Order: sequence, then C-alpha cells, then structure tokens
Amino acid sequence: EAKSAGRGSLAVFDESMRRRVRRRMQLEQGLRQAIEQDQLSLHYQPIARLDTGEVVSVEALVRWEHPELGPISPGEFIPIAEECGLIVPLGERVLDRAFGQLSRQEARSPSGKIPGVSVNLARQHLLLPDLAGRLTRTVRLAGIDPAEVHLEITEGAVMQDVDVARETLGRLREAGFRLAIDDFGTGYSSLACLHQFPFDLLKIDRFFLEGLVHSDDRASIVRTITALASILGFRVVAEGIETADQLALLRELGCDYGQGFYLCRPTHFADLPSRIPLPHADGLPAPVPC
Ligand code: C2E
Ligand code: MG
Ligand code: MG
Ligand code: MG
Repeated sequence: EAKSAGRGSLAVFDESMRRRVRRRMQLEQGLRQAIEQDQLSLHYQPIARLDTGEVVSVEALVRWEHPELGPISPGEFIPIAEECGLIVPLGERVLDRAFGQLSRQEARSPSGKIPGVSVNLARQHLLLPDLAGRLTRTVRLAGIDPAEVHLEITEGAVMQDVDVARETLGRLREAGFRLAIDDFGTGYSSLACLHQFPFDLLKIDRFFLEGLVHSDDRASIVRTITALASILGFRVVAEGIETADQLALLRELGCDYGQGFYLCRPTHFADLPSRIPLPHADGLPAPVPC
C-alpha cells in the first residue's frame, strides 16, 4: 500500500510516527523524573455498600500532571510505566502516600474515618521476590493493619503466570492483606479458575454496566456473576455506576458494593465522605454526594 500511495503519504506516515515516538519518549522521561521527584499525586474514590451507602474502602488512583503536556491519564502512562520498568517504583510511591493518608486521619473525625484503602498492583509486582514481606514492612512503618488494605490485581495479571500468582497471593493473604480481582470479565478466565486463588472481592468491570438497564443479557450476566461469586465466597463490587437506574438494578441483582461517578468521583482524601447518601430502594433521587 505504501508503494502505490507514493512518497507523499510516506512522508505523512513518517510525520505522525515521529510525533508518536516523541510523545512516548517525552512521557517516559517525564515519568521517570516525576517518580524520582515524588510529583505524582493521588485521588481516591469510595467503594460503598449499596444498601447503606457506608464507605468500606477508597481506591487510590494515581494522577500525573506533565510540566508541558498537562494532565496525562493513567490509561496512557501506566502501560508506559509497565513497559519501561517504572511500575514498581511508581507503585512504591503510591503505597507510601496512600498508607500515609490512611494512618494520618485524626483530623477527619467530624466526617468519619475511612476504614481502608484499595491499591492497584501490576503484574511486575507479583514477580518481586518477597512482595508479602516488603508490603508487611511498609504497612508496619505506616502503623496500619494489613486487613485495612485491599490489593487489586487484574485477572490478566494473575493469568500471565498462574504459579507465581498462586504463591504470591497466598503469602499476601497469609500476611493479612485483602485481595481483589480487578476488571473482572475483561479477560478469559472463568470464576471457577479464579477460585483457586485466595481472593476476597471481585470487581465487575465497568463494561457490563454500560447498557445494563436496557439489556436483559447484561443483567443476566451480572446476576450470574453475582450469584456464582457468592457461592464461591467472593464479595462483589460493581465498577462504574453512573446512574440511579444502574444503582437500583444492581441492588435488585444482589450486588453488595459499588463504585462510580454517580456515588462519588475520585477526589482528594480530605474531601472523602465516610457514608454516601443514597436513594432508598423505592427510587427517591439521591442528594448530590460530592
Ligand atoms: P481501575 O483500577 O479499574 O480504576 C477504575 C477506573 O475507573 C479509574 O480510572 C476511575 O476514575 C474510573 N471510574 C470510576 N468510576 C467511573 C464511572 O462511573 N464511569 C467511568 N467512565 N469511569 C469511572 P483512572 O483513574 O483513569 O485509572 C485507570 C486505570 O489505571 C485503573 O483502572 C488502573 O488499572 C490504573 N491505575 C490507576 N492508578 C494506578 C496505580 O496507582 N497503580 C497501578 N498499577 N495502576 C493504576
Ligand atoms: Mg482498580
Ligand atoms: Mg477496575
Ligand atoms: Mg479498569
């Protein structure tokens, strides 16, 4: 195709390639610097009980503002960090900050304490020698209990090396950390397969909530995942709740916990609610939480 299109389009191709390569290099370099100089920040998004609105944990979500390019989404820079060996040092910064926030909560007493934090781990974290030992030391230094920490791992990361994952996750669970399967349903693993790992929670990917209210198929899938998960001993979190209708349906389908813009957008730790005012099952509109 390049041959018949001639030199002009090759030049265009070259140009867009060059731009992409340049952005990628700029991001990689900037990220390395941001990690070294501790310039990454965190937002937190509540995970709440869908019946009472009580916040059971908050997910730490990393934020980065590039000095020239402005805010970059984690969807763009996390894969870069994973590819160029920066995800482990990035993760250390995230854990230190999140654990620090959780342990320094005395000032929050009027709005209520946040009971736990959820952090995302990448595949490379599972490959670290003695991850459980490292994390145990980190929580001890911060003065928090490992039971207050949920470690989120995507099913893809688990499935890439099943034996390593089984060993590492087993040790983490023994050390008292809680484990969550993130983005469930986007990979190819079955619940029966994930049952061999010591997970406490399963987070249904946002994909299944899109169109949930109008699609009987989606609703059956969510109902089935929820029912099977409870038989297998996982509790279920629905990710990406954006509307009151989705919330009402998820309650009906038996989903216990949820997270999403409708409940609360990711925000600064100081602004987190410890309970989200939710509408009752009769469908009263909720006051805007935050
Ligand atoms: P995730 O772990 O599945 O996190 C949930 C993502 O969904 C977040 O995107 C959150 O802002 C977004 N979200 C929450 N509720 C809604 C909703 O109602 N509607 C929509 N459309 N989106 C919603 P974010 O912050 O952009 O993060 C994207 C992904 O980047 C995360 O997905 C996670 O895989 C990764 N990530 C973020 N922070 C970290 C980190 O510290 N370490 C690692 N390894 N990965 C991270
Ligand atoms: Mg997550
Ligand atoms: Mg997720
Ligand atoms: Mg996701």
